[in-house]
Amino acid sequence: MARATAKIRLYVTAELSAGASVALDRDQARYLFSVMRLVVGDDVLLFNGADGEWRARIIAARKKDGVLEAVEQTKVHMSPPDLWLMFAPIKKARTDFIAEKATEMGARRVMPVFTRHTNSDRVNAERLAAHCVEAAEQCGLVAVPDVLAPQTLEKVLADWPGDRRLMFCDETAVGGDAAEALRRAGGDKWGILIGPEGGFSADEITRLRALPFATPVSLGPRILRADTAAVAALTIWQATLGDWA
Ligand code: SAM
Repeated sequence: MARATAKIRLYVTAELSAGASVALDRDQARYLFSVMRLVVGDDVLLFNGADGEWRARIIAARKKDGVLEAVEQTKVHMSPPDLWLMFAPIKKARTDFIAEKATEMGARRVMPVFTRHTNSDRVNAERLAAHCVEAAEQCGLVAVPDVLAPQTLEKVLADWPGDRRLMFCDETAVGGDAAEALRRAGGDKWGILIGPEGGFSADEITRLRALPFATPVSLGPRILRADTAAVAALTIWQATLGDWA
Protein backbone atom coordinates (compact mmCIF):
# COMPACT_ATOMS: atom_id res chain seq x y z
CA MET A 1 0.00 0.00 0.00
CA ALA A 2 1.49 3.38 -1.04
CA ARG A 3 2.04 5.92 1.73
CA ALA A 4 -0.27 8.93 1.58
CA THR A 5 2.36 11.16 -0.01
CA ALA A 6 0.39 11.96 -3.15
CA LYS A 7 0.03 15.61 -2.12
CA ILE A 8 3.53 16.27 -3.41
CA ARG A 9 3.25 17.63 -6.95
CA LEU A 10 5.97 17.75 -9.54
CA TYR A 11 6.11 19.29 -12.98
CA VAL A 12 7.76 16.97 -15.51
CA THR A 13 8.36 17.24 -19.24
CA ALA A 14 7.65 13.56 -20.00
CA GLU A 15 4.36 12.48 -21.59
CA LEU A 16 1.89 11.14 -19.04
CA SER A 17 -0.43 8.19 -19.62
CA ALA A 18 -1.26 4.98 -17.74
CA GLY A 19 1.94 3.01 -17.24
CA ALA A 20 4.20 5.77 -18.63
CA SER A 21 7.66 5.75 -17.14
CA VAL A 22 9.02 9.11 -16.01
CA ALA A 23 12.73 9.62 -15.39
CA LEU A 24 13.66 12.16 -12.71
CA ASP A 25 16.53 14.58 -13.07
CA ARG A 26 19.02 15.29 -10.34
CA ASP A 27 17.09 18.20 -8.74
CA GLN A 28 13.81 16.31 -8.75
CA ALA A 29 15.46 13.22 -7.24
CA ARG A 30 17.11 15.34 -4.55
CA TYR A 31 13.78 17.00 -3.73
CA LEU A 32 11.76 13.78 -3.54
CA PHE A 33 14.29 11.47 -1.91
CA SER A 34 16.51 13.73 0.19
CA VAL A 35 14.23 16.63 1.09
CA MET A 36 10.82 14.91 1.22
CA ARG A 37 12.28 11.51 2.20
CA LEU A 38 10.09 9.53 -0.18
CA VAL A 39 10.95 5.92 -0.93
CA VAL A 40 10.13 3.27 -3.54
CA GLY A 41 6.38 2.53 -3.47
CA ASP A 42 5.36 6.08 -2.43
CA ASP A 43 3.06 8.10 -4.68
CA VAL A 44 3.37 11.67 -5.97
CA LEU A 45 1.32 13.75 -8.38
CA LEU A 46 2.78 14.69 -11.76
CA PHE A 47 1.70 17.15 -14.44
CA ASN A 48 3.33 18.27 -17.65
CA GLY A 49 1.12 21.11 -18.88
CA ALA A 50 -0.63 18.92 -21.45
CA ASP A 51 -1.89 15.62 -20.02
CA GLY A 52 -3.62 16.73 -16.81
CA GLU A 53 -2.44 15.47 -13.43
CA TRP A 54 -1.40 11.89 -12.72
CA ARG A 55 -0.75 9.88 -9.58
CA ALA A 56 2.57 8.17 -10.06
CA ARG A 57 4.46 5.56 -8.06
CA ILE A 58 8.14 5.65 -7.26
CA ILE A 59 9.79 2.66 -8.91
CA ALA A 60 13.43 3.56 -8.41
CA ALA A 61 14.90 6.07 -5.96
CA ARG A 62 18.57 7.02 -6.15
CA LYS A 63 20.52 10.05 -5.00
CA LYS A 64 20.95 11.53 -8.45
CA ASP A 65 17.99 10.15 -10.37
CA GLY A 66 14.92 8.00 -10.11
CA VAL A 67 11.98 6.56 -12.01
CA LEU A 68 8.23 6.95 -11.50
CA GLU A 69 5.38 5.13 -13.17
CA ALA A 70 2.11 6.94 -13.91
CA VAL A 71 -0.80 5.04 -12.36
CA GLU A 72 -4.03 7.00 -12.81
CA GLN A 73 -5.18 10.40 -13.96
CA THR A 74 -6.35 12.57 -11.07
CA LYS A 75 -7.23 15.74 -13.05
CA VAL A 76 -7.96 16.34 -16.70
CA HIS A 77 -5.99 19.03 -18.52
CA MET A 78 -7.42 22.53 -18.33
CA SER A 79 -5.76 25.50 -20.02
CA PRO A 80 -6.09 28.88 -18.34
CA PRO A 81 -7.87 31.65 -20.28
CA ASP A 82 -5.95 33.07 -23.24
CA LEU A 83 -4.46 35.93 -21.26
CA TRP A 84 -0.92 37.31 -21.54
CA LEU A 85 0.65 39.33 -18.78
CA MET A 86 3.16 41.86 -20.10
CA PHE A 87 5.14 43.88 -17.62
CA ALA A 88 8.23 46.03 -17.52
CA PRO A 89 10.81 44.25 -15.35
CA ILE A 90 11.46 45.83 -11.98
CA LYS A 91 13.67 44.71 -9.09
CA LYS A 92 14.50 41.00 -9.10
CA ALA A 93 12.34 39.93 -6.15
CA ARG A 94 9.34 41.94 -7.38
CA THR A 95 9.73 40.58 -10.92
CA ASP A 96 9.80 37.05 -9.51
CA PHE A 97 6.66 37.89 -7.53
CA ILE A 98 4.90 39.01 -10.73
CA ALA A 99 5.75 35.72 -12.49
CA GLU A 100 4.53 33.72 -9.49
CA LYS A 101 1.26 35.68 -9.18
CA ALA A 102 0.62 35.58 -12.95
CA THR A 103 0.75 31.79 -12.70
CA GLU A 104 -1.55 31.59 -9.69
CA MET A 105 -3.99 34.03 -11.26
CA GLY A 106 -4.20 31.99 -14.46
CA ALA A 107 -2.21 33.85 -17.12
CA ARG A 108 -1.27 31.71 -20.10
CA ARG A 109 1.82 33.67 -21.07
CA VAL A 110 4.25 35.86 -19.14
CA MET A 111 6.13 38.47 -21.17
CA PRO A 112 8.75 40.87 -19.82
CA VAL A 113 8.65 44.02 -21.94
CA PHE A 114 11.23 46.83 -22.11
CA THR A 115 9.64 50.26 -22.12
CA ARG A 116 11.27 53.70 -22.23
CA HIS A 117 11.63 54.04 -18.47
CA THR A 118 12.37 50.39 -17.67
CA ASN A 119 15.33 50.52 -15.33
CA SER A 120 16.15 46.85 -15.18
CA ASP A 121 17.84 45.73 -18.37
CA ARG A 122 18.51 42.14 -17.40
CA VAL A 123 15.80 39.57 -17.00
CA ASN A 124 16.50 35.92 -16.53
CA ALA A 125 13.58 34.26 -18.34
CA GLU A 126 14.73 30.84 -17.13
CA ARG A 127 14.51 31.96 -13.51
CA LEU A 128 11.05 33.40 -14.12
CA ALA A 129 9.97 30.11 -15.74
CA ALA A 130 11.22 28.21 -12.68
CA HIS A 131 9.09 30.48 -10.45
CA CYS A 132 6.06 29.76 -12.65
CA VAL A 133 6.66 25.99 -12.36
CA GLU A 134 6.99 26.24 -8.59
CA ALA A 135 3.79 28.27 -8.31
CA ALA A 136 1.92 25.77 -10.51
CA GLU A 137 3.20 22.85 -8.41
CA GLN A 138 2.06 24.50 -5.20
CA CYS A 139 -1.32 25.73 -6.42
CA GLY A 140 -2.62 22.50 -7.90
CA LEU A 141 -2.52 23.82 -11.47
CA VAL A 142 -2.09 21.51 -14.43
CA ALA A 143 -0.75 24.20 -16.77
CA VAL A 144 2.30 26.44 -16.53
CA PRO A 145 2.47 29.75 -18.41
CA ASP A 146 5.00 30.17 -21.21
CA VAL A 147 7.65 32.68 -20.26
CA LEU A 148 8.95 34.61 -23.23
CA ALA A 149 12.34 36.25 -23.54
CA PRO A 150 12.13 40.02 -22.96
CA GLN A 151 11.20 42.16 -25.97
CA THR A 152 10.85 45.87 -26.51
CA LEU A 153 7.39 47.39 -26.32
CA GLU A 154 7.92 48.55 -29.94
CA LYS A 155 8.37 44.97 -31.11
CA VAL A 156 5.49 43.61 -29.05
CA LEU A 157 3.12 46.20 -30.53
CA ALA A 158 4.46 45.73 -34.07
CA ASP A 159 3.80 41.97 -33.83
CA TRP A 160 0.45 42.31 -32.06
CA PRO A 161 -2.06 39.71 -33.35
CA GLY A 162 -5.18 41.15 -34.98
CA ASP A 163 -7.59 39.10 -32.84
CA ARG A 164 -6.22 40.05 -29.42
CA ARG A 165 -7.12 43.00 -27.23
CA LEU A 166 -4.83 44.92 -24.92
CA MET A 167 -5.75 46.01 -21.39
CA PHE A 168 -3.44 49.00 -21.06
CA CYS A 169 -3.04 49.84 -17.37
CA ASP A 170 -2.69 53.59 -17.63
CA GLU A 171 -1.69 55.27 -14.38
CA THR A 172 -2.65 58.64 -15.85
CA ALA A 173 -6.24 57.60 -16.61
CA VAL A 174 -8.78 59.24 -14.33
CA GLY A 175 -11.87 57.41 -13.15
CA GLY A 176 -13.90 55.05 -15.28
CA ASP A 177 -14.96 51.54 -14.50
CA ALA A 178 -12.26 49.12 -15.68
CA ALA A 179 -14.57 46.08 -15.53
CA GLU A 180 -17.22 47.89 -17.59
CA ALA A 181 -14.59 48.93 -20.18
CA LEU A 182 -13.42 45.31 -20.50
CA ARG A 183 -16.97 44.03 -20.78
CA ARG A 184 -17.73 46.55 -23.52
CA ALA A 185 -14.63 45.54 -25.47
CA GLY A 186 -15.40 41.79 -25.02
CA GLY A 187 -13.44 38.96 -26.62
CA ASP A 188 -11.51 36.12 -25.07
CA LYS A 189 -7.92 36.81 -26.16
CA TRP A 190 -6.24 39.56 -24.21
CA GLY A 191 -2.95 40.91 -23.01
CA ILE A 192 -2.48 43.05 -19.89
CA LEU A 193 0.26 45.68 -20.01
CA ILE A 194 1.85 47.03 -16.82
CA GLY A 195 4.48 49.75 -16.90
CA PRO A 196 7.72 50.13 -14.92
CA GLU A 197 8.23 51.93 -11.58
CA GLY A 198 8.88 55.11 -13.54
CA GLY A 199 5.61 54.73 -15.44
CA PHE A 200 5.07 54.98 -19.19
CA SER A 201 6.59 57.91 -21.10
CA ALA A 202 4.21 60.54 -22.48
CA ASP A 203 4.89 59.24 -26.02
CA GLU A 204 4.14 55.68 -25.02
CA ILE A 205 0.87 56.73 -23.38
CA THR A 206 -0.22 58.67 -26.47
CA ARG A 207 0.66 55.76 -28.71
CA LEU A 208 -0.98 53.11 -26.53
CA ARG A 209 -4.18 55.10 -26.12
CA ALA A 210 -4.51 55.45 -29.90
CA LEU A 211 -4.17 51.73 -30.68
CA PRO A 212 -7.45 50.36 -32.03
CA PHE A 213 -7.04 47.12 -30.08
CA ALA A 214 -6.22 48.79 -26.75
CA THR A 215 -8.54 49.43 -23.81
CA PRO A 216 -6.90 51.93 -21.45
CA VAL A 217 -8.01 51.38 -17.87
CA SER A 218 -7.50 52.97 -14.50
CA LEU A 219 -6.87 50.71 -11.50
CA GLY A 220 -8.32 53.23 -9.10
CA PRO A 221 -7.36 56.58 -7.61
CA ARG A 222 -4.06 55.43 -6.07
CA ILE A 223 -0.80 54.78 -7.92
CA LEU A 224 0.01 51.13 -7.30
CA ARG A 225 3.44 49.57 -7.38
CA ALA A 226 3.91 47.60 -10.58
CA ASP A 227 3.64 44.21 -8.84
CA THR A 228 0.44 45.23 -7.06
CA ALA A 229 -0.93 46.65 -10.32
CA ALA A 230 -0.27 43.30 -12.05
CA VAL A 231 -2.30 41.39 -9.46
CA ALA A 232 -5.09 44.01 -9.47
CA ALA A 233 -5.34 43.94 -13.28
CA LEU A 234 -5.34 40.13 -13.39
CA THR A 235 -8.10 40.11 -10.77
CA ILE A 236 -10.33 42.53 -12.67
CA TRP A 237 -9.78 40.71 -15.96
CA GLN A 238 -10.42 37.25 -14.50
CA ALA A 239 -13.56 38.42 -12.68
CA THR A 240 -14.91 40.16 -15.77
CA LEU A 241 -13.90 38.11 -18.81
CA GLY A 242 -11.91 35.19 -17.46
CA ASP A 243 -12.64 31.93 -15.65
CA TRP A 244 -14.03 33.60 -12.51
CA ALA A 245 -16.75 35.26 -14.55
N1 SAM B 1 5.78 56.49 -11.84
C1 SAM B 1 4.41 56.38 -12.09
C2 SAM B 1 3.68 57.56 -11.48
O1 SAM B 1 4.09 57.94 -10.39
O2 SAM B 1 2.73 58.01 -12.06
C3 SAM B 1 3.86 55.11 -11.48
C4 SAM B 1 4.10 53.87 -12.21
S1 SAM B 1 3.38 52.49 -11.39
C5 SAM B 1 4.45 52.29 -10.05
C6 SAM B 1 3.77 51.15 -12.42
C7 SAM B 1 2.68 50.70 -13.38
O3 SAM B 1 1.59 50.14 -12.67
C8 SAM B 1 2.08 51.78 -14.24
O4 SAM B 1 2.86 52.09 -15.37
C9 SAM B 1 0.73 51.18 -14.61
O5 SAM B 1 0.83 50.28 -15.69
C10 SAM B 1 0.36 50.43 -13.34
N2 SAM B 1 -0.46 51.24 -12.44
C11 SAM B 1 -0.17 51.62 -11.18
N3 SAM B 1 -1.19 52.30 -10.63
C12 SAM B 1 -2.16 52.37 -11.58
C13 SAM B 1 -3.47 52.94 -11.62
N4 SAM B 1 -3.98 53.57 -10.58
N5 SAM B 1 -4.17 52.78 -12.77
C14 SAM B 1 -3.68 52.14 -13.83
N6 SAM B 1 -2.45 51.59 -13.85
C15 SAM B 1 -1.70 51.68 -12.74
